[in-house]
Amino acid sequence: MITKLVRIDELHMDESAIEEAGRVLAGGGLVAFPTETVYGLGGNGLDEDAAARIYAAKGRPSDNPLILHITSMEELVPLVAEISETALVLAEAFWPGPLTMIFKKAELVPYETTGGLDTVAVRMPSHPVARAVIRAAKVPVAAPSANTSGRPSPTKALHVLEDLDGRVDMVVDGGEVGIGLESTIIDISEGRPTILRPGYITEEMLFPLIGKAEVDAAVRGIPEEDARPKAPGMKYRHYAPKAEMTVFLGSPTEVCGAIEGALAQAAAEGRRAGVLCTEETERFYDAPVKKCAGRRNEPESVARSLYEALRAFDREQVDCIFSESFEDSPLGGAIMNRLLKAAGYRTVGCGEFTSVR
Ligand code: AMP
Ligand code: MG
Repeated sequence: MITKLVRIDELHMDESAIEEAGRVLAGGGLVAFPTETVYGLGGNGLDEDAAARIYAAKGRPSDNPLILHITSMEELVPLVAEISETALVLAEAFWPGPLTMIFKKAELVPYETTGGLDTVAVRMPSHPVARAVIRAAKVPVAAPSANTSGRPSPTKALHVLEDLDGRVDMVVDGGEVGIGLESTIIDISEGRPTILRPGYITEEMLFPLIGKAEVDAAVRGIPEEDARPKAPGMKYRHYAPKAEMTVFLGSPTEVCGAIEGALAQAAAEGRRAGVLCTEETERFYDAPVKKCAGRRNEPESVARSLYEALRAFDREQVDCIFSESFEDSPLGGAIMNRLLKAAGYRTVGCGEFTSVR
């Protein structure tokens, strides 16, 4: 398959390109497009063959459910069994935006899209290009992140092409995304609202609207081997660079010291090491490869550049990656969640530090 690459500038939207993307989606094809979180790989969310094509293109296990993307509340109604007061409050506050809600599904939504679950995940993105493409498709668009399953999510069209060139019909290049981490996922289908994946919308932002949300155990650590996670997707290793990665936990000063020690040891063993650091700390390290994930005092910049940094280590073919940690901000929880998964929970506690949170 030849993948068609089109550039769409959100300020001067090319209507004919948008319509073409819409036709491909309506016809059962796959189109990758930017959202405010990461690039999504879109397919018709009501067409089980399109869902099967998404799983095949990504190499994604078919029990890992997809998120349906819509552009208005009217489009939500036929997809879900009920719309609770909580859903209305959260939609009013955060849609369009980086919040995914889990509902009991309506019959219309095929089990091929929900990974066999009786619930469905829905999001209304705010990115103008995403909205235009979904509107043009005239169907709810299932759109997981547009990466090969297990790799870091794409924050640029180039990342999508690295993974999916020749495997999808079209890639819409709308430039670099703004947030850089996947949406916050909250399950409101039964009982207390439960955060299944932390993201840009934090517990602190949800609290004034719905009180204290539960946080699923799988968010904080390795899900038990045989405990059934709420969503099958939560059990898979994610966001991972190719090299073995270790996250150093503790205060920035102690972390710097410990990483310097690990670098010396890697050099002695002839291993090519990379350090995932920040603009503030880069100068402290003498390392073969250094990648900055933004600025430590600006967590949004860390979120935005994290996946590009992880992919850059793959391009530089390092043998091991030593990463700083980022915990002291509301967004830090989401950043650490991705980093720990990328590292397969391989950590080193520095100084007094003994456990994550
Ligand atoms: P992504 O790969 O970023 O599209 O994320 C999809 C993730 O959303 C899945 O891996 C699940 O963790 C979660 N998800 C989607 N649908 C459901 C659902 N019905 N119930 C619980 N979690 C879901
Ligand atoms: Mg993903």
